[in-house]
Amino acid sequence: MLKEIETFLLAQRMDVVGVADAAEWGSPVVECRPAEILKDCKRIIVFGKEISHPIYITQRHAHDLYGHIAQNYYQTMDAAAIEVASMLTRKGYPSVPLGAYLPLLMREGKYWGIVSLKHAAVRAGLGAMGRNTLLVNEKFGNRLRFGGILTSAPLPAGKPLEKSYCPDDCRTCADVCPVQALDGRGGINQYKCLRRSTSHPLLSTAFLSQWFRTSGFINNYFELVTGTLGARYSYGCCACLVNCPHFKKGISRSVAAKDE
Ligand code: SF4
Ligand code: SF4
Repeated sequence: MLKEIETFLLAQRMDVVGVADAAEWGSPVVECRPAEILKDCKRIIVFGKEISHPIYITQRHAHDLYGHIAQNYYQTMDAAAIEVASMLTRKGYPSVPLGAYLPLLMREGKYWGIVSLKHAAVRAGLGAMGRNTLLVNEKFGNRLRFGGILTSAPLPAGKPLEKSYCPDDCRTCADVCPVQALDGRGGINQYKCLRRSTSHPLLSTAFLSQWFRTSGFINNYFELVTGTLGARYSYGCCACLVNCPHFKKGISRSVAAKDE
């Protein structure tokens, strides 16, 4: 069954596919634990799609192009996740697609995906978390976006890699961050980062942050607001991504393809 899922997702132009064990998922937010969402959830199928280098570093409009492509990929990944979940459910294994970007929650003063696909990717062995909080994959570096599915199917699960891709002495991501959002040890101040890295013409993240942080009532409607007004946004920074040495992973692959 896993082979069938992999074949389908790769045919949808996904670049990596993995399976994470959903047991003992340690999210501090109870409603974000897989088994709280899907009864008898056993695995998280997680797949990633690469955003290619040139999109991030065009001489003009790089942030707008990056935002536009990423948000189109989210739709592609959501459609693929819906198909896989339906296929598994029809086989007798209730399954639920997860949104690649939305819904986005705010709980306890922090932003949360319903289930963190980055952490699922780590658990599935697709890569390791860099100190800039982006997943680093051996082949695609830090340029993958993720989609996923919760499933009750007992698929063979991957294992986390027992390695870090961050050299001990590297602090590049923390040093290039214009707002000192990264502490250089893997920690991030979400508010500092989001105020700088996302922009929205009608409802800026800075505005949301100020109001939503203090209002329990509005907090509960955060996913509705992000799903409507915040469904599309522009980027304002990806310095920790493009300056990380892992951004360049896969460039030789592109050059080789060109020479063929
Ligand atoms: S995206 Fe920009 S603002 Fe956010 S942590 Fe990275 S460098 Fe800092
Ligand atoms: S810039 Fe260095 S420390 Fe930061 S994520 Fe990349 S390799 Fe790790």
